[in-house]
Formats: sequence, C-alpha cells, structure tokens
Amino acid sequence: MMKRIVASLFFISFCVCLSFSQVPGLFRIGTGGLQGVYYPIGKLIAQGLTARFLGPDKPAGIPETLFVAQTSGGSISNVQSLLSKETEAGLVQADVAYWAYTRQGPFEGLAEPAPVRAIASLYPEKMQIVVRKDARIETFDQLKGKTISLDEAGSGTLAVLRILLEAHRLSEKDLKPVYLKPEFTVDRLMRNELQGFCMMAGVPALAIERLTSVDYSIVPIDPTVAERIQGQHPYLFPGVIPAGVYQGIGQTPTIEVYALLVVHQDLPDEMAYALTESLWSKQVLSLLETGHAQGASITLDTALDGLSIPLHPGAYRFYAERGMVSKQEP
Ligand code: GLU
Repeated sequence: MMKRIVASLFFISFCVCLSFSQVPGLFRIGTGGLQGVYYPIGKLIAQGLTARFLGPDKPAGIPETLFVAQTSGGSISNVQSLLSKETEAGLVQADVAYWAYTRQGPFEGLAEPAPVRAIASLYPEKMQIVVRKDARIETFDQLKGKTISLDEAGSGTLAVLRILLEAHRLSEKDLKPVYLKPEFTVDRLMRNELQGFCMMAGVPALAIERLTSVDYSIVPIDPTVAERIQGQHPYLFPGVIPAGVYQGIGQTPTIEVYALLVVHQDLPDEMAYALTESLWSKQVLSLLETGHAQGASITLDTALDGLSIPLHPGAYRFYAERGMVSKQEP
C-alpha cells in the first residue's frame, strides 16, 4: 500500500514538472526536393538556428524554438504553405516571391498582395537543363519533341521553364513533358526513359552529381535570350554555371535568380530580428560553409542582393543597425 502511495506521489510530481517545463516552439522551413540545394541548405540553417535558439546563445526574450527543414514541391508550394500557415518560413525564388507580392502568375487569384516578407537573400540559383549526350540536344530549341522532366507544378523550376519556352516560341506541348522532382529523374535518365531534366537550383545539385553512369551535358541559355527575359522579368538575369562544378562540364551560360528566405508578415518583429541575427551568426555561417559547397556564398555582404519583396520589419531593423539600409524604414 505504502509503495503504491509513494509511486502515485512520484507520478503526480513528475506530471506537474512536465506541465511546467516549456516544450520548444516549432518553426518549419519549406525547402524543395531531396536532391536539390534548398533542402540541404534548409537543413543546415535549421540545425544552426536550433543550436542557437535552444543553447546558451539563445536570443533574449525569445522562446526556445526547434527549427526543421521540410521537403516540398519548391518555391510556389513554399509560398502557399506560408500563406496557409503550415510553415513559418520558406526558401523562395525572388521571381516567385515577387509574383506572390504583386499577384501575378500562379498568384493572380489572391484578393490582396501575399503577406510575404524577406529575411535575406541567400545565393543565386541557376537553370540547369541536363540532357543525355546521345539525345543530341545542343541548343534549347532542340528540346523539341524530347522527353524532358520539367519538375512539379509547385516548383519554381517549372515556372522559369515556361518563361524560357515562351522566349523560344515553344510551349510545353512541343516537348514530351514529364513532371517529376529531380530525385525521381536520375535513374530514369540513366535508363534512357528520359532524355533530360531541369532544375533551377544552386550548384552543385545532388541529382546531377549522381549521374555517374551516363554521359550528359547541360544545355546553354543564349545570353541575349536571358537578357530579353530580364527585360520582362527583372529578377531573372543572365549568368553562368562555372566550369568544373560537374565533372567534365565547361562554363555554361544560363539564367539565374536569387533564392530568398521568406516569412509571413505576421511573424513577430522580435522573432524576425532574432532569426536574422542568428542566421548571420558565426555559428550558422560556419555550418553553411562546411556543410554544402553553395553554403559558402551565403554571406551578410550579399544579404540584400536581388530582393524582390520588402524585408520583414524585424529583419529591416537588423540591417538598419548595421548601416546596410537607411534608418527609416520605407
Ligand atoms: N528553385 C527550385 C524551386 O523553387 C528549388 C531548387 C532546390 O530544390 O534547390 O522549385
């Protein structure tokens, strides 16, 4: 009997302790497919931020928070999940964020400009159209009639591909399009079920690095076409995939866009400030630098490059304190 009473008392005090201990808040970051760059970069950011928000350097006055990177369809899906509050942040192409903010393209039906706000610009993404060498596709126009994966409907890749097709007076129907995330294209390309696949992503992308048993090339985008596109879509700009990013592939002209870290405008200012400050902490930056080749190009110096939507006021305050934007928020 006595034993039972002691056990019950022990159980009750355990429950009381539990109910008083704080469960960390959850902060979800929407990324992309498993073998792109958003997901590994998002994971490193989540890992670094969690270490800060749960550790001895926890920002003052901010609840303990656990950050997680979630796979997703890509930029368009990430904006949609931010709007429906299924995530707290997302990696989003600058052009897609701009469409959401100005109600264009897939966001035409919104009643109000999407309440998306930037924390930072991270790194430039590059259109990478990977094709089997034996498919003999040397120019964009030669994609005509070929079986090419254009990524999923929620991806920023498909959105940019549609712009590229239009700029070449082609449409999806001129190809034999397939809509798969890159991780599902690698084996199909090696088995010759696909002749190519596309990714608007940082470099190197794991899906391309995995193409070990097939000769492939990357289709160049003519710089004059890229410039023409920039005239209509200011956040897309001409660029190059540097030589040697992928074994045996020389420098290739392409089209680029910045990847932004985006949150909902409802995120409390103190949280957005703490998030920005922590993102640019030595701890998170060194994780990014050592964790992924693209991570080294994520720097405070380039944090405002290619921003297409307003900064979140909390992020703005961080940059204003460092003289990177004017003291007075526009
Ligand atoms: N930019 C791509 C998209 O929005 C995702 C790229 C990646 O997964 O790294 O669909």
